[in-house]
Amino acid sequence: MALSKKEREVLYTKYDGRCAYCGGLLKKGWHADHIEAIVRDFKYNKEKSRFETTSTCRKPENEKLENYNPACASCNIQKNSFTIEEFRYNIKKFVASLNKNSTQYKFAKRYGLIQENDIPVTFYFERVEANQNTYN
Ligand SMILES: [Zn+2]
Repeated sequence: MALSKKEREVLYTKYDGRCAYCGGLLKKGWHADHIEAIVRDFKYNKEKSRFETTSTCRKPENEKLENYNPACASCNIQKNSFTIEEFRYNIKKFVASLNKNSTQYKFAKRYGLIQENDIPVTFYFERVEANQNTYN
């Protein structure tokens, strides 16, 4: 199910035009993320030698406006079909991965250009909800 133009407008305003995850301003081409994945079915396209999504999904019950978050393209692509907690866990692992695999990252850190912060990964929507609970 694709969202209607009106539903996309409603979703856009959910966090005042910001990505529910990183909080960045949504730009043209922003994504409507399924909070709980619908898990699309894939089919192998022999001519193109790649998997492609089909029009069917394994969790059609998650296809509802309440299950959408507005997201920037990069957050949506990175979240993929992971749950919120899996997405948080994956982000948390990025620093260890960079320390293990990226020479550029390690050099930048060695020369003081990068400072790591061992803090919990908090999503924008969680900060918004925490502020609402503080002031209401
Ligand atoms: Zn984002």
